[in-house]
Amino acid sequence: MKEYESLVIGGGPAGITAALYLLRAGVNMGWVEKLAPGGQVLLTEAIDNYPGFPEGIKGYELIDRFAAHLEPFDFDKIRDEVVEIRAEQGKYLVSLSEGQIRSKTLIICTGAKWRKLGIPGENKYSGRGVSYCAVCDGNFFRNQDVACIGGGDTALEESLYLSKLVRKIYLIHRRDAFRGLKVYQDKVFNDPKIEIVFDTVAEEFVGQESLSGVKLKNVKTGRESLLKVDGAFVFVGLDPAGMDYPRGMETDDRGFIITDQEMATSLPGVFAAGDIRSKLCRQVSSAVGDGATAAFNTHVYLEQN
Ligand code: NAP
Repeated sequence: MKEYESLVIGGGPAGITAALYLLRAGVNMGWVEKLAPGGQVLLTEAIDNYPGFPEGIKGYELIDRFAAHLEPFDFDKIRDEVVEIRAEQGKYLVSLSEGQIRSKTLIICTGAKWRKLGIPGENKYSGRGVSYCAVCDGNFFRNQDVACIGGGDTALEESLYLSKLVRKIYLIHRRDAFRGLKVYQDKVFNDPKIEIVFDTVAEEFVGQESLSGVKLKNVKTGRESLLKVDGAFVFVGLDPAGMDYPRGMETDDRGFIITDQEMATSLPGVFAAGDIRSKLCRQVSSAVGDGATAAFNTHVYLEQN
């Protein structure tokens, strides 16, 4: 069984940064990532608030640059998924889909995944009209009509991306004010292809072989209607991309890991960084900061234990 001083789990901006700091500190580390490095950033069309790129940068280009920083280092990159972590005699036993790894410390950077609405038809039409990723699926709806559901930064930003491809967007939000940043709100309100539908919830996705519409309900009037669309994009927030943790791991009521300001979790030697943490600000720049802090404190922990 492979054994490390530290194992970084997850390859988004937090995981890449944590790995970089550990490698530069000479820590014997391994890195587990289930797909390619990048995480959700890979599925983001443009990042326009990461310092150093005033013109914005495509998600995959930023990740390419991040990953290039690791190239000079020789370390184990394991392509697999962590399913369970157990505490074992002062170390951690990490179970992958294939095999196990032992490590003295862990930095968990597994991020978050898109939340589902949980309404009838969502699973049936997922991949057949219902999507959670504009960059992945937007192209299928060129010159067609789509609904976007949600009112946060993701819903606004992705609607703006989709408006370059589709014929019309109905942006459906359950309240009468968006949660997302004003800079995106201004653009959405001024985009002629985007029709904003406030105070409205999606109740059901309908269709035959593929999606043909969304049943809507106005929460103020109670009026129900059927909106005919070819596609529906769900952007209603994030759930943690967690795993089975050892007893004693503190999480919030949604399952995001609680850390202190040094990124230490409630378990000795286990740190968490990036979107998997319980926090309000989920940005590439804050994930990078979390990753650096977690790695720095992992190094301190290893020196003291
Ligand atoms: P979010 O900020 O949690 O917003 C989720 C939105 O979906 C909210 O408007 C919420 O409505 C709505 N919603 C939640 N559950 C719903 C339901 N069951 N039915 C209908 N609507 C529902 O999630 P996000 O937009 O995915 O953003 C996640 C994090 O990433 C945030 O921290 C965000 O700032 C960050 N982010 C940043 C950028 C950027 O800076 N460029 C881009 C994307 C994301 P209410 O408003 O009524 O609660």
